[in-house]
Amino acid sequence: MAAYDYLIVGAGLFGAVFAERARKAGKKVLVIDKRPNIAGNVYTEDVEGIHVHKYGAHIFHTNNRKVWNYVTQFAEFNRFTNSPVANFHGELYSLPFNMYTFNKMWGVVTPEEAAAKIEEQRKAAGITEPKNLEEQAISLVGTDIYEKLIKGYTEKQWGRPCTELPSFIIRRLPVRLTFDNNYFNALFQGIPMGGYTKMVANMLGDTEVRLNVDYLAEKETYDALADRVIYTGPIDAYFGYTFGPLEYRSVRFENELLDQPNFQGNAAVNYTDRETPWTRIIEHKWFEFGKDDDGNDLPKTVISREYSSEWKVGDEPYYPVNNEKNAALYGEYKRLAEDEKKIVFGGRLGEYKYYDMDAVIASALACAEQELA
Ligand code: UDP
Repeated sequence: MAAYDYLIVGAGLFGAVFAERARKAGKKVLVIDKRPNIAGNVYTEDVEGIHVHKYGAHIFHTNNRKVWNYVTQFAEFNRFTNSPVANFHGELYSLPFNMYTFNKMWGVVTPEEAAAKIEEQRKAAGITEPKNLEEQAISLVGTDIYEKLIKGYTEKQWGRPCTELPSFIIRRLPVRLTFDNNYFNALFQGIPMGGYTKMVANMLGDTEVRLNVDYLAEKETYDALADRVIYTGPIDAYFGYTFGPLEYRSVRFENELLDQPNFQGNAAVNYTDRETPWTRIIEHKWFEFGKDDDGNDLPKTVISREYSSEWKVGDEPYYPVNNEKNAALYGEYKRLAEDEKKIVFGGRLGEYKYYDMDAVIASALACAEQELA
């Protein structure tokens, strides 16, 4: 008999949710992670009282009541609403695309005027059925916004021309004929008070966790410990890149602790021109309103400049590049995965899917329901 019912590879959101469900169902669980910390890419680190989102900004938002009821058992959420600002060569625009954006771009005042302007630009571009991100963007918001707020940012972020990217990426962003700067169309939104690491620690509870463990290097040893394995690492790495690597985008962060209380006045400023080398600057304290426990403004601030790059073996993978070529390659890996009867592949890397946090949690809950039934 194996020592554990489940070995969970990866202490990120998928792994932590599955671990919590399995423990609740009375299973013996071991979680391992190759990093020195839990929480995967939602990991937050305390710097001068500020929770720094070490692997990129994460803003929790969902329309899924079941997921919201689930996560709020492990953290209390603040009322943070994501309202990024776009900086195009020093011109500032509101995001997502809304009446403030349209007014600044074109001087239009009413929703009717904004809609007419978009329609005029869409017509001039002659797009009827958008086939890629560029065509989708122009047909949603017109050429001016595409040129100033989308093209440069997207090509820096993805390292590919917008004509070669799938249109679903841009449909993540709302387009609104109202003065609503909320980036998300979600019923529930916020940041866990105390940071994401604490939330994941609460999910894991007293589950046994071993850090700094390279599963793929010691696969046989670890597999022998459990009846079932939940693997949340990259699916192509699991199979030794046998069909070649899937493409990912990686991100590099340049973090700075500044001796000033307010650097940019907002959590996220996107640099949408092609010339600025970073995609965005995150000022972490504004996720939590920059106040300490006594309500005083913190005298310092931490900022992260975010640079996007093509992933190569050995880098941290962040974003799967979900285009046709990779979908076909993923399909080949998925067929191999189906033959691994003891292993379940889950999460952004295990399923090669551009999952948001709520979707990862929903998927882990569904996976647990099926596994533990
Ligand atoms: N995007 C853009 N301009 C912006 C912000 C986003 O063109 O100022 C596009 C870009 O293609 C990006 C996509 O919208 O990849 C999705 O953005 P989102 O903020 O959802 O990306 P994430 O926060 O996951 O990096």
